[in-house]
Order: sequence, then structure tokens, then C-alpha cells
Amino acid sequence: MFTRGLVFLGFLVLGGFVAWLLAAWVGAMVGLILSAWIAFYLDALRLLRLQNWLTRLHSIERDDPGRVQSLPEAPTGGWLGEIADRMHRLLRWRIQAQHASQMQLQEMLAAMQASPNGVILLDADGRIEWCNQTAAGHLGLDAARDVRQHVAHLIRDPLFNAYVAAADFSAPVTIAGRKSTPSRPVRLSLQMHPYGDGQRLLLSRDVTLIEQAEAMRRDFVANVSHELRTPLTVLSGFVETLQTLELPPQDVRRYLDLMAMQSNRMQTLVDDLLTLSRLEGSPLPSLNDKVGVDALLAQCEIDARALSLVMGRSKQEIEFVQDAPAQLCGVATELQSALSNLVSNAIRYTPSEGRVVVSWKLLADGSGEFAVQDSGPGIAAEHLPRLTERFYRVDRSRSRDSGGTGLGLAIVKHVVQRHGAVLHIESEPGQGSRFSIVFPASRVQRADSPADLKAA
Ligand code: ADP
Repeated sequence: MFTRGLVFLGFLVLGGFVAWLLAAWVGAMVGLILSAWIAFYLDALRLLRLQNWLTRLHSIERDDPGRVQSLPEAPTGGWLGEIADRMHRLLRWRIQAQHASQMQLQEMLAAMQASPNGVILLDADGRIEWCNQTAAGHLGLDAARDVRQHVAHLIRDPLFNAYVAAADFSAPVTIAGRKSTPSRPVRLSLQMHPYGDGQRLLLSRDVTLIEQAEAMRRDFVANVSHELRTPLTVLSGFVETLQTLELPPQDVRRYLDLMAMQSNRMQTLVDDLLTLSRLEGSPLPSLNDKVGVDALLAQCEIDARALSLVMGRSKQEIEFVQDAPAQLCGVATELQSALSNLVSNAIRYTPSEGRVVVSWKLLADGSGEFAVQDSGPGIAAEHLPRLTERFYRVDRSRSRDSGGTGLGLAIVKHVVQRHGAVLHIESEPGQGSRFSIVFPASRVQRADSPADLKAA
């Protein structure tokens, strides 16, 4: 500014001096005035250029703030040029800062968009400012259309409305999802998180599977307790009787036999539970472990005939048929357990005069089928889809009387799945049942020569 003053003074002195030379004092006065006018005129021109430049900057910033690179060059020269240059630099810095914060915001929104949970940003009045696609899917919102709508008008669930009205957001509220139906329930957990100046973050989470797992866990514990309680009650009753009454030896013997039966029942239940938990916890069966089908069938036959005798089904006709020798790739104990469970069910549910046929055959596509056909009571169609659920029984007392735990087919299902096989159940009341397991070709190896069989 000081330089500018000097230049202006120099301009006046020079103009005055030149005019004084030409026309003495009067000329000097006119020269001074003229010089001042010329100096002001030149400044006015520069100011006009500065104004034009500012107008252009303003329109660029308004229309496209991201175009920081295309800002017009500031007018140069003179003290106004310097002002323009400083403004230019300030503006460029501001636009860059604005651009960076825009980018940050976009990245944050993209991260929230990728969240597996639903995210809704609400203003202080509870109106939607932004929501991600997951939240839109959970709650049936339209991420663009529903902006500025009040959230309570869009989520019309009485539980959620009561939650908002109570304004206690320390815990989530669980409501039925938009696509929930009685046969396919969908459960959503919603929780508000206040932040900033009265704004709120509403998070939604699909908790259907968690709730189902929790319900299954509860049912399972209740079922196991129930299954154990009955034999335990009987056992403690007998113990009390033996402790308090003087009984003849034959009664004591009878009571002890009954007690042994109950403790066997508990033992079988615990064994089946342990088998199930081992199946769930162990790695998938490898293709390198092999077991001969004839060995599996031989063990099944021994068990089946013994069980038939124990159950007093001496007249039961039991037949084992094997069309071709083969080896199965899998865990021998698991496969034995699955096959034995099917055979044991057939023996237990088929009356004394009935017939049980256990067969193995190789199918045309290289797969192998293990089947157990019986002439027992059969099963009504409505029970078939649930037979492999834990503790599901068609006839409770018949199952218990024959020593069933309700876990046999659940074990079969697990073993079958782990070996990539498929369980088929065909049954009709009064027509008997056919349970078959089809092992995929990848797990079946023909063992045509006796040497192969021995190796198994
Ligand atoms: P359980 O120990 O009760 O036999 P399972 O899981 O092995 O339990 O079988 C579930 C239910 O399926 C049984 O309670 C029984 O009602 C029915 N079931 C299984 N196998 C047969 C069969 N061969 N004939 C008739 N009903 C059967």
C-alpha cells in the first residue's frame, strides 16, 4: 500500500512537473489534476477487471464447486492484482477443503451403505435424512422417496411406536419384519442411538436366525430335561421303596430289573446326545477313509437279530440282501450308527409277524442305495417332513416302550448330510415304511474282487 502511495505521488509530481515546464504554475495545477484523473481512471479499469473476475468465480463456485482446477486466472499486476491473487488462493483452498469433506462424507455413506445392518439417520424431529438399502429392505422404505418423512409414519408397528413414544433407547425393540408370515416369520431388532444436536441413528438388524436358534436351544434343553426326568423319577421311587420297605426277594429282583431298564434308557439317551454333539463338532468325513458295505451289513444283521429277540419278536422275518460288493468312503462308526438306527427302528416298530428287508444295491449312475423296508404300522404323510427333528415322535408311548430316544433319525440325518448322501422316507399308514439312503457315486467304490473286500 505504501508503494502504491509512492507511485501515485510520483505520478502527480511527474504530471505537475511536465505541465509546469509547459505552462508554469497554472499548467502545474492542471497537470496535477489530469495526472490524478489518469491514475484514478487506470485504477477504475483494474477494479472493473477484478469485479468481472469475481463474478466468474462466484458462478463457478455456485454451479460446480468441484471444478477447483478450472478457476480462471486472477488479474495480475498492481495492488488490485495482488488482492485478486490472495482472494484466488483463499478461494482455491476453501474449495479444496470443501471437496475433501464432500469426499469424506461420500466415503462414510458408502461404508454405511455396505453395512450388513440397516442404518437410518433421523433429524431432531424424527424425519428421515438418509437410509441405506439394508434398512430400506428391512422396513419397506424407499431410500429416495421417503427422505424428510417422519419415521413413525413409515414404520407402523405398535411396539415401535410405543418405543419411540417412551424415548427410552437403552435396549432394542424387536418387531415383525415386513415380509413376515406365520409360516416364515421374520424378526427385526431396532435400536435408536441419539447423537449430535438431537439427531438419532436408527439401526435395524435381522434377528430371525438368532431367535430361531435361541428357541431351538430352549426346546432342546426342555426336551432333554423332560426325557431324563421320567426315568429319574421312576428310579428314585424304586430306591425309596427299597430303602423303606422290607420286600420279599422276588419283588426286590423285579424292582432291580425295572431300575436297570430305566438306567439303560438314560444311558441310551446320553449316548445319542453325545453322538449328535460329536457329529456337529467333527470335521467332514474324508474320501480316503473306506469301509466295506458287507462289514456294515454284517454288524447290522447281528444287532437286528439280537434286538428282535430282546423285543420278543421271535417270529419277525428279517432278510439282508446285497446285490454287489462295494466300499463306502466315510467314517465307519458314523455310517454304522446311521444304518443301525434305521434297522433298529424297523425292528422296533414292526410287529412280531412282520417282515424287515435290509438291502444294498448299486444304481446305474454309480451311486449306492442302502434301504430298510418294513411291514410295520407306517407313518401318516403329515409327520414325514418332521421325522428327523430331534425328539419328534409320531407315537410317544410306542417309541418309549420300545426304548426309543427320539434322536435316532436326527443322527441319521446328520450322518447322511455329512457324507453328501440323501435320505428318502416313503411310508403310508398300514402299508409299512421304506427308509433309504442314497450315497453319491463319489463315495461309492465297486469292490468286485474278494481281495478288495478283504481290504475293506
Ligand atoms: P425313536 O427313538 O422314537 O424311534 P427316531 O428319531 O428314530 O426316534 O424316529 C422318530 C419317530 O419316527 C419315531 O418315534 C417313530 O414314531 C417314527 N418312526 C421311525 N421309524 C419308523 C418305522 N420304521 N415305522 C414306523 N414309525 C417309525
